[in-house]
Amino acid sequence: LRFAVLAGGTGSAKLLRGLKAVAGEFTVISNVGDNFWRHGLFVAPDLDTAVYTLAGLEDSLRGWGLRGDTFNALGQLARMGEETWFNLGDRDLATHIFRTEQLARGRRLAEITSMICERLGVKQRVIPCTDDRLETYVTTSTGPMHLQEFWVKNRGEPDVIGVEYRGEDGAKPVRAAVEALEVADRIVFCPANPVTSILPILAVNGIRQAIGRSRGRKVAVSPMVGRGPVSGPAGKMMRAIGVEANSLAVSRLYGRLVDCMIVDPADSQDAKVIEREGIEAVESPILMRNLGDEARLAREVMTA
Ligand code: GDP
Repeated sequence: LRFAVLAGGTGSAKLLRGLKAVAGEFTVISNVGDNFWRHGLFVAPDLDTAVYTLAGLEDSLRGWGLRGDTFNALGQLARMGEETWFNLGDRDLATHIFRTEQLARGRRLAEITSMICERLGVKQRVIPCTDDRLETYVTTSTGPMHLQEFWVKNRGEPDVIGVEYRGEDGAKPVRAAVEALEVADRIVFCPANPVTSILPILAVNGIRQAIGRSRGRKVAVSPMVGRGPVSGPAGKMMRAIGVEANSLAVSRLYGRLVDCMIVDPADSQDAKVIEREGIEAVESPILMRNLGDEARLAREVMTA
């Protein structure tokens, strides 16, 4: 069976680890909205989280970066008076140096990502949804700022009024991503921040249509348990775009793109309404605390 998996960062990484354990081969289509330039380097946090996780090199406690990495280069940059609010580990920097150099040579992000996958021994394909510029900007009461500036530099504190995907009109999908979606027997929406991880992927012209054309079954895992997100700013982001922060609202955001949504038993009320609105709702524990949880949910996603 061919699986195509839409993924963001930390929440998605847990399910990817489970899928790696039980499914083996699949194609990840990654968000790029959190990519940005830092210290002269092009950084792609969600892509790297997927690649490191599938390579078995991830720091699973933090949810980003490489296990056992050190931060000496960043310390030296701070000593030189640079702002170092975005953590980049010493070994992690090698990825950004490699990617930036390949970009300078004229290679595209998708090609560079597959080179990184190959060199790190990743068996699955990881494809950015677009090679073009697409950046998630958060409108706050003090003005617009890049997602990383909002979440990392300002620790997610500013009030959020809106969210925009800069470049969405011109961003073309990576052809391999469209093909993977079209031929997939199953398309999986990872538990991810809907506003900053999944919607930016869907904002790329042609991605929604490819999912719509696919005859495969489309299964989403809710990132919400109880009355809010498991972690991160998804609640604030959902409210900023005018919806509530619960599984029902997530299912409405994905709408007819998904056939089935896996929600936590704590949200059986939501599940009933989701069903009534025409999307199958499967109740199953969706909190992933360890590899056992991750593998069990991955199996559920493959069979639901
Ligand atoms: P980000 O780029 O780090 O924000 O990563 P994602 O968008 O992939 O993941 C963040 C989302 O994953 C948040 O909305 C969390 O609520 C959700 N999440 C984190 N851990 C879990 C989990 O164990 N289970 C489920 N269902 N969702 C989770």
